[in-house]
Amino acid sequence: MTTNQSTAPAPGPIAQRSTQDWQSADAAHFLHPFTDHQGLAARGARIITRADNIYLWDSDGHKVLDAMSGLWCVNVGYGQRSLVDAATRQLQQLPFYNAFFQTATTPAIELAELLAEVSPPQFSRVFFGGSGSEGNDTVVRMVRRYWDILGQPQRQVIISRRNAYHGSTMAGASLGGMSGMHAQGGLPIPGIVHIEQPCWRELGQGMSKDEFGLVAARWLEDRILELGAHNVAAFIGEPVQGAGGVIIPPATYWPEIQRICDQYGVLVVSDEVICGFGRTGAWFGCETFGFRPDLMTFAKGVTSGYVPLGGVMVGDRIARVLIEQGGEFAHGYTYSGHPVACAVGVANIRLIQQLGLVQHVHDDVGPYLAQRYAELAGHPLVGQAETCGLMGALQLVNGKSRDGLGTDFDPALEVGMLCRGHCFREGVIMRAVGDRMIIAPPLVITRAQIDEMVALIRRCLDLTLADLQARGWLS
Ligand SMILES: *Cc1c(COP(=O)(O)O)cnc(C)c1O
Repeated sequence: MTTNQSTAPAPGPIAQRSTQDWQSADAAHFLHPFTDHQGLAARGARIITRADNIYLWDSDGHKVLDAMSGLWCVNVGYGQRSLVDAATRQLQQLPFYNAFFQTATTPAIELAELLAEVSPPQFSRVFFGGSGSEGNDTVVRMVRRYWDILGQPQRQVIISRRNAYHGSTMAGASLGGMSGMHAQGGLPIPGIVHIEQPCWRELGQGMSKDEFGLVAARWLEDRILELGAHNVAAFIGEPVQGAGGVIIPPATYWPEIQRICDQYGVLVVSDEVICGFGRTGAWFGCETFGFRPDLMTFAKGVTSGYVPLGGVMVGDRIARVLIEQGGEFAHGYTYSGHPVACAVGVANIRLIQQLGLVQHVHDDVGPYLAQRYAELAGHPLVGQAETCGLMGALQLVNGKSRDGLGTDFDPALEVGMLCRGHCFREGVIMRAVGDRMIIAPPLVITRAQIDEMVALIRRCLDLTLADLQARGWLS
């Protein structure tokens, strides 16, 4: 008898395994990202088996409207034939070759060229990686290398913001400003410091949004002066903080950040992993918010999530120094410029162009979502409704019907999670960040589908309100 034979039946096709069977195998073997496994095992994971356009289906055949684009990434929606064909063709012709040893593959060259075309004018070069986290690791190494080449090796410090999300590797989690992540594993690593986020609702009491934007930007100036400008390498930020809860800064914020960085010679890094590729109604978020970064991290929407890919757009100011004075930059990943990922990236960007999705967000569905969200602001549970392009946030508050404003719920009540549970059951995916309910639907969404989505969201808000009433949690 050989040891590699088992008496258990071989795994069958999807139809032959029950949802429960999948769930127990999942609980036994698959460690999920950012997940409490005991809680998950008790409930069982929802098994997603197929998708089309903006809809998902689970293993029990339930249809769900995916208002989160997977994880902020499926910008062109599910089931796009041209991306599937591009991957298939490339897998058959050349599934892999590296770009280390004086070689290149054609999809990587083509994607680099196309990225330069759609990026702001200061960008003509790209460094590829496999994810947003890797992109931000590259950023840390690249800005430090840049200052080193220029004879300022002490310019090491990178300034970021509380409640930012820049990924989950050592550098990514350190750049990020998530206290729960810093608490696990002794982060941040040295040379990364944080200022407060530009969240008007939390920190701007008594100020207009525009006044607050300037105040929040000057926290950066204060920190640069405190550290000594000659020690500060770069400032990094998401144009709109995504995972932090869709925190949309006042219009005055980013131009003032740019002015400050220019004044002190500090590099500006825009983490475009969520905001890039049309999400805000421009190709990149920095264009919507009026600033001119030296580096842009990208991932997610570059392939609409069909295959993993990320990287960094490198501004000419930095590229020139690295190339002309730096010699070899001792950094790279096996999958830098992966031909299959890059082929999908090319097909994805071409499709965004063909479908006119950036204009679609800017002129049509972005303003329409803003209009429909303004109506949701009247719901008794909603204290604030905000959108930027196709990102939206609803802040759930207590007692609004009494004073018109409401107050925050006790976080221990987990009201956001309660609402998310209703969404899950009613067939719409929203994410809860505390009591902030956020969405980022695929850019292909139509006005009629926005109506469908908003009706589902309203229904879930009503169900949550009824729940809170029944539990006696409303004041
Ligand atoms: C998702 C995300 C990242 C990390 O990307 P991964 O591909 O998960 O490593 C970085 N920055 C931002 C703004 C993100 O939203």
